[in-house]
Amino acid sequence: MTLLHARGLEKSYGRTPALRGVSLDIAHGEFVAVTGPSGCGKSTLLHSLAGILAPDAGEVHFDGRRLDDLTEDARSRLRRTEFGVLFQFGGLVAELTAAENVALPLLLGGRSRREARTTALTWLERLGVADVADSLPGETSGGQQQRCAAARALVTEPRVLFADEPTGALDALAGEQLLGLLSRLTREQGTTVVLVTHEPRVAGYADREIVLRDGEVDSTGLGVTGFDTA
Ligand code: ADP
Ligand code: ADP
Repeated sequence: MTLLHARGLEKSYGRTPALRGVSLDIAHGEFVAVTGPSGCGKSTLLHSLAGILAPDAGEVHFDGRRLDDLTEDARSRLRRTEFGVLFQFGGLVAELTAAENVALPLLLGGRSRREARTTALTWLERLGVADVADSLPGETSGGQQQRCAAARALVTEPRVLFADEPTGALDALAGEQLLGLLSRLTREQGTTVVLVTHEPRVAGYADREIVLRDGEVDSTGLGVTGFDTA
């Protein structure tokens, strides 16, 4: 069952082409790594699939709905309820504690403060950072912050998690802990994951790899081991 379907995506920034006709299908429950060298269009593709960025041409369908056909309100509701996003630098709100950060999407979704806090604590626990629940992001390590950001991305139980170089700012150990947790939790929940990375080690966690080269899907199927990542 296809959950995400893209056809003929094109996007340029001024005269710089970033996507040159990308088509792909991602099945419900799949863990897909989008890989390729820096500048090949990975982030642009991820943002287009997540409805954050409008491509110049082409279509994205989520669960049979074409993103372009939705009103801005409907698209924003879809992003809030069905998508979770995790970026290289987690983007936690510096003035809020870890628990408050994780509770935020639930409060925005209309849950009570008490319920939001309880659910947030459950997710911090699952990600192994319950001990920093009442700390501010600046009082915790990069790895702890990124696990809090992952808790915030998953707390609404989204159907798709979009992650852009989620371990890019972490040391190897913290990165592997985060990926191990993401991989386990999303599988348990049946969450579809689209993860962008240029690191072979990270792509190894995925069921399937989609390789981009100069804004196009590389059909040779050579994985991240197929190019020099140095
Ligand atoms: P990747 O994530 O694989 O590094 P990106 O999608 O970030 O690739 O970028 C693809 C190409 O588009 C690169 O040449 C990049 O410099 C360019 N690009 C990306 N975002 C912008 C932007 N906001 N303005 C101008 N050029 C951009
Ligand atoms: P990543 O590290 O995920 O590949 P980038 O560092 O390529 O991401 O891009 C980070 C942000 O900067 C993105 O929002 C992208 O749109 C923007 N960006 C990337 N390249 C350029 C560029 N050449 N000019 C302006 N903005 C860019």
